[in-house]
Amino acid sequence: MYDYGKCEICDTPIVEKIIQQDFWLKDRLIVIENVPAGLCPQCGEKIVNAEVGEHIARLITDADRIDKAPTISVPLVRYEEAMAV
Ligand SMILES: [Zn+2]
Repeated sequence: MYDYGKCEICDTPIVEKIIQQDFWLKDRLIVIENVPAGLCPQCGEKIVNAEVGEHIARLITDADRIDKAPTISVPLVRYEEAMAV
């Protein structure tokens, strides 16, 4: 298990969690599941270690893998509609 140390923002000990991380690649939203990351229980700051960061960088530049990955649909909400009460 990786030691994430303390949160740089609020000095709370970081805990390891498995998270989903999303990235915008040009006009596509990509979600990576099962990412081991450090999460600050106080302020929500997220940290990934260098090894995980490199792995993610490889995943999001692997166009072939991305093309073959299953897709999910996400809600698309217009700002104007959200304002109407
Ligand atoms: Zn924090």
